Amino acid sequence: MRNGREPLDPARYEQKWRERWEADGLHQAHDDDPRPKKYVLTMYPYPSGDLHVGHWYAATGPDIVARLHRMRGANVMFPMGFDSFGLPAENAAIDRNIHPAKWTAANIDRMRTQFKTMGAGFDWTREVITSDPAYYRWTQWIFLQLYKAGLAYRAMAPVDWCPKDQVVLAREQVEGADRRCWRCHTPVEKRDLEQWWFRITNYSDELLDFSEVDYPEPIKRMQTNWIGRSEGAEIDFAAEPDDVEPIRVFTTRPDTVFGATFMVLAPEHPLVSVLTTDDRRTGVDAYVADARRETEIERMSTERPKTGVFIGAYAVNPMTNERIPIWIADYVLPGYGTGAIMAVPAHDERDFAFARQFDLPIRFVVAPASGAVPSDEAFMAHSADEVLIDSGDFTGMRAADAIPAITEALAENGSGQYAVTYRQRDWLVSRQRYWGAPIPIVYCDEHGAQAVPEDQLPVLLPDDVDFAPTGVSPLQDHAEWLATECPTCGKPARRETDTLDTFIDSSWYFLRYCSPHDSSRAWDPEQVAAWMPIDLYTGGAEHGVMHLLYFRFFVKALRDLGHLSFDEPTRKLRNQGQILGADHNRMSKSRGNVQAPDELVSRYGSDTVRAFLMFIGPWDQGGPWNSSGIDGIYRWLARVWGAAQPGGAAGSGDAEGKELERALRRATHTTIDAVTEDCEALHFNTAISKLMELTNAIIRAREVGLAGGEAYAEAVDTLLVLLAPLTPHIAEELWERRGHDYSVHQQPWPTANAALAASDTIELPVQVDGKLRDRLVVTPDTSDAEIERMALDSVHVQRYLAGRAPMRVIQVPGKLVNVVTPRD
Ligand SMILES: [Zn+2]
Ligand SMILES: [Zn+2]
Repeated sequence: MRNGREPLDPARYEQKWRERWEADGLHQAHDDDPRPKKYVLTMYPYPSGDLHVGHWYAATGPDIVARLHRMRGANVMFPMGFDSFGLPAENAAIDRNIHPAKWTAANIDRMRTQFKTMGAGFDWTREVITSDPAYYRWTQWIFLQLYKAGLAYRAMAPVDWCPKDQVVLAREQVEGADRRCWRCHTPVEKRDLEQWWFRITNYSDELLDFSEVDYPEPIKRMQTNWIGRSEGAEIDFAAEPDDVEPIRVFTTRPDTVFGATFMVLAPEHPLVSVLTTDDRRTGVDAYVADARRETEIERMSTERPKTGVFIGAYAVNPMTNERIPIWIADYVLPGYGTGAIMAVPAHDERDFAFARQFDLPIRFVVAPASGAVPSDEAFMAHSADEVLIDSGDFTGMRAADAIPAITEALAENGSGQYAVTYRQRDWLVSRQRYWGAPIPIVYCDEHGAQAVPEDQLPVLLPDDVDFAPTGVSPLQDHAEWLATECPTCGKPARRETDTLDTFIDSSWYFLRYCSPHDSSRAWDPEQVAAWMPIDLYTGGAEHGVMHLLYFRFFVKALRDLGHLSFDEPTRKLRNQGQILGADHNRMSKSRGNVQAPDELVSRYGSDTVRAFLMFIGPWDQGGPWNSSGIDGIYRWLARVWGAAQPGGAAGSGDAEGKELERALRRATHTTIDAVTEDCEALHFNTAISKLMELTNAIIRAREVGLAGGEAYAEAVDTLLVLLAPLTPHIAEELWERRGHDYSVHQQPWPTANAALAASDTIELPVQVDGKLRDRLVVTPDTSDAEIERMALDSVHVQRYLAGRAPMRVIQVPGKLVNVVTPRD
């Protein structure tokens, strides 16, 4: 039964079309395709078990873009995979006594099916699963390339440790001022451990350069702040007694060195025990012990009163040659800069508070040009006009000039130099857990750490281990797996038991998609050269200083090792917003505000859920769930359904009918342009508004009897083609019902006919001497002479001319007319 009264019933056709598209390979990218390539990628998910609304939201946006590019004639790669190593699988193993591999595989199967249900046009033939040995073999290979190049190294260091997950964390995985685990929010602890690191800091400067990429400003800001580059000077303060090495500080304000009236060391600074005089030792030791017990957030608080102790020793200010006392205080942290500061209380708030507390001298050395400095607070304006005071030969110099001048003077007397520091540290990549790629290193008593030969990769994870978290890798108890041979001498050796951070897996998965089945190498250089860089990468902004920094580092390091020939993984990055619960809170099981997509799909169909999600708000902002909104979307698609059914009366030939047809064509062609622009800009919500308006125009035309005419057919067919990326199933179903050839998804994306899109009439503002006085309604073909005549005929204009001839009439075609009156 195919008539207009048949109601919309997505259950009748959605599944059918998905099966057909898959069978026909409609979404497959082809390596040997001569058309221009587009690589569209959305961050692959962790296989947690079920797709939630957030996954749908994240995937639908780039799916629309990928489909749009396909219809515009590009060879599109839009792959999907699973970030399947990691702690949740291991924790599930512990909690439910199921092997992580099994748990992961079952979740992947379920999520793959759900992704298919949402109608996303992924190329599943390229699927990548990072816990598959066929994948992690190459993760290990990359590790070895970095190791051989000195970009991976092992070192003892104080590391952040999550006591709940029993694992070390990368610095980027410690969140917030109160330093909590990014995964379980437990406050982290410091531990001294031997760990593996990647030398990401070799790339700090290059990672600050965003000139080749189009990234959202907040991500650029996050990465820039995270890297934390600051320029200044390293200054050495000679300590007394003079057989002790000088105390080195870093300052961004070497222009204030004349105001350094004391020094403060972190209690953990290695010189503290050396410099402390015997009469002070008891008090110093007690203070150091207390400081070690405090959290970093307590120590950095500007609120609480300053504490500290004088250690009995002195240093010499290299510019004033004054003896200045050395203190220790917990507000100086060992991990920042050099762990020592020159205190300039006149120009630093915390130093000022400290000096007040302990009655230490405060000397202003920078002042505004007016000369006035505050009397009861630090002066920190650092304005352009400030000058040095009380600074020896530099007195009177502009502060901006004094920075290089004093740095140079320090360099001349051998006590300082220009220096740059970074907040960023190397990336800690080893984890003491089971479910990750084993680090391909063995230890020989004689030869130490040795790389596993590449032809022995992958180092397979053994299946049979005990999963209870003990703080050491469960691999440590697997005697059989541990025992191996030294690749150098062949004698018994022991395997490294730590596994790699899963963020290493995700630092190169986008390369694997280019040649996912290549069993002889990590990637086929020809395919990587053809597909990379990614044209559009989308995902959550929460990855700003982890994944989105790591994957840039990987590309740069692999480029320098000769494996890649480009500098950045993606040309363009966009972050989707977040779908909140109806209560405007983050969706979570504990709040009971989670919307399960499966339930909605069985009720409304995939198309409605997709369109509703894209209509919630601007895609990069997200918004709260609103269940009345989804009904509205369903009703809209039902209207599309009705309007697109064949049949209906032919248009009437009279003048009014002609005008109505012209209006419908105008609506059709303006919608093409608007929807194209909106989809390119990822403004899906406004694209949907315009598609709704076109639907309304079509329905009005049907009501006045235009349904059989050409303009009507063009409007409906165009609407279906424009809907295809957003609501792929209904577009395909109606396309077929209207008698067109399969598939709507292989139709060329329409281009607007400018003449048809042009409005029949233009409203021209008329100004007199630059002030708006009237508006003219003209057609696009009205001549300039005619427009001038109409403007001068206007009674409003005539009032200002007051019978005089105009001095000039200026026209900006299509925009305005300005009548200039003669000067009296
Ligand atoms: Zn944790
Ligand atoms: Zn050996």
